Amino acid sequence: MEKEYKNTIVKACRKMLNEDLVKGTWGNVSITDGKKIFITPSGYPYDKMKEEDIVVIDYKGNILEGLKAPSSEWKLHVAIYKARKDVKFILHTHPIYASIASVTMEVIPSLIEDSAMICGPEIKVAKYADPGSWELAENAVKALGNNSAVILRNHGLVNVGESFNEAFVSAKVTEKNIQVYLEALKLNREIFYIPEKNMKELREKYLKFYRQ
Ligand SMILES: [Zn+2]
Repeated sequence: MEKEYKNTIVKACRKMLNEDLVKGTWGNVSITDGKKIFITPSGYPYDKMKEEDIVVIDYKGNILEGLKAPSSEWKLHVAIYKARKDVKFILHTHPIYASIASVTMEVIPSLIEDSAMICGPEIKVAKYADPGSWELAENAVKALGNNSAVILRNHGLVNVGESFNEAFVSAKVTEKNIQVYLEALKLNREIFYIPEKNMKELREKYLKFYRQ
């Protein structure tokens, strides 16, 4: 199982690089089994990443396995896993539209049904804090709530899921929803929103049926 987790992280790194969700060595990925956290090492190139480069830490940040330092954002991962027992996978990326939202917005409504289902009714921007700090981790947990996406102010995007696939699709759908919102705002026309009642139902439907 541990080998499988490490392999999933390596694949996730390649995928987020290939799909332009990150540039360089920024961003990070982790999986938890409820006790240990398997996380990408700090500042190591994704295209060179191998299973043995993945660092294993406990919920206090102690290194249990690995020769490299864990991602500098390990506190963010610990805080989310502690707050959300349904989350097994975390993907932190720096894509372009979420980055634009991170410097201009407080909250982005889910305008399209896929975002309403997988991300939740809205995507909030967490209050600014220093990268790698407990303060950033707490701000992110607060703004994430029960949704699957949160934006870090002047920084990037975090997506969570019960699997890699769910967190990855959440990241892609978040980006699309923000792009739709930004383009729609430019048209200077009335924007139609999903009614609150339907929004709630879409999310419930997703959690109940699609997640299985
Ligand atoms: Zn980052």
